[in-house]
Amino acid sequence: MSYDVVVVGAGALGCTLAYHLGRAGKRVALMDRAAVASQTSPRAAGLFKHVQSTATRTALAASSARQVVNFERDTGIPLPAIRSGSLMVASRPAHAAYLRREVDQARAWGVHVELVDAPTARRIMPLLRPDELQAIAHVPDDLYIEEPAQLLDAYLRAGVRVGVDVLPHTNVTGVRVEQGQTRGVVTSDGEVDAPIVVDTAGAWARAVGALAGASLPVVTVRHQLYITAAIEGMNPRFPIVRFVDAAVYTRPARQGLMVGAFEANPLPFDVSHRDGFSMEQTPLDLSVLAAARAAIEDYLPALKETKVREHRGGLFTMTADGHFMAGPVSDIAGFWVVTGCNGSGFSFSPGLGQTVSEWIVDGAPSIDLTEFSPARLSGTPLDEAQLTAACVWQYAHYYDPAS
Ligand SMILES: Cc1cc2nc3c(=O)[nH]c(=O)nc-3n(C[C@H](O)[C@H](O)[C@H](O)COP(=O)(O)OP(=O)(O)OC[C@H]3O[C@@H](n4cnc5c(N)ncnc54)[C@H](O)[C@@H]3O)c2cc1C
Repeated sequence: MSYDVVVVGAGALGCTLAYHLGRAGKRVALMDRAAVASQTSPRAAGLFKHVQSTATRTALAASSARQVVNFERDTGIPLPAIRSGSLMVASRPAHAAYLRREVDQARAWGVHVELVDAPTARRIMPLLRPDELQAIAHVPDDLYIEEPAQLLDAYLRAGVRVGVDVLPHTNVTGVRVEQGQTRGVVTSDGEVDAPIVVDTAGAWARAVGALAGASLPVVTVRHQLYITAAIEGMNPRFPIVRFVDAAVYTRPARQGLMVGAFEANPLPFDVSHRDGFSMEQTPLDLSVLAAARAAIEDYLPALKETKVREHRGGLFTMTADGHFMAGPVSDIAGFWVVTGCNGSGFSFSPGLGQTVSEWIVDGAPSIDLTEFSPARLSGTPLDEAQLTAACVWQYAHYYDPAS
């Protein structure tokens, strides 16, 4: 068998990339050692966020949201996205100042975001008690996907239509590199030729990189959320709320609320020595989310009475500087990586998939991804303990990297 491109890993990043490559006329194999779309991505919260920390991330976030909103128009395949908007709220002066700076910066980059007063916030989110909050920002274009698997399913279907070969239960056990040039992969079903191989293996990206001889400095860290039972008066169009100082987010989910939290003492969880590990085996700890709820329930009193209906978690693939790792790997021609999503890989996948595809196909992407180059992370190699510490720090400061 031979292809133009082999994509290793059929999560959000692999599915979106494979679709865009197929649409551009490439012969693509999308391989997954497990069932497709079965690991981190379907466990995500499904949140899209326009306010980002750099101009490039802002452009990619906007491109991703546009793609999702227009997906049915462009492909004929439904992809239900709920344009609920979002509120970002801060209850302490330092975080309020941080939020105001973020708003100014995002507006300069073209994001539709404004600071609102408490009565306006209460009108937008009737369940919120905003009177004690120090700063509130409203982003009307933010959106979420109720069941994250819907995005994966839509891109898989679109990919198949443009000719992508989807190969579930195909474990990539080797990457063939000869004289610095990628030649293909070795799989549980035999060898496959391809001059380009892309590592989109999520929590396993480091292991797949090692098969090609690439050292990818990423660390996997647990993240958890829960969904409550139905709440009276809940409306799916109520906004996402991001409590920046508590590092907690909520959104409507199945007539209740979803609550997700960034742990103050994050749990790195290495999968490299756990053969057969599957994402639903991520160790969960509901007490972390109980503390998160306690931190915000005065602002969202409806949470006090609710029962937990679903509790799930998975692993973020973190980098030391908190930014993606996307692009060709130096010294191994034809070997590319798209990972290190630091908790944003689901929502960025449409934009990253399209942009990396343009880079592979045309040699120049429409959004310059140089700042995400894998090479930037190999310049000053950290030892394993330093790398883990840096990645854990990035996780704990997801909403306030400046503090
Ligand atoms: C609880 C939770 C909530 C989150 N919420 C959000 C959110 O609201 N918004 C957001 O943007 N992001 C969110 N994220 C982060 C987001 O889910 C991830 O960044 C994203 O799903 C990563 O996608 P992926 O394609 O890299 O990984 P995955 O979906 O894990 O896909 C990687 C695939 O590679 C396959 N694979 C691995 N090794 C091999 C091999 N050797 N051969 C073949 N296949 C292989 C795996 O089986 C897997 O299917 C959340 C994450 C969690 C855990």
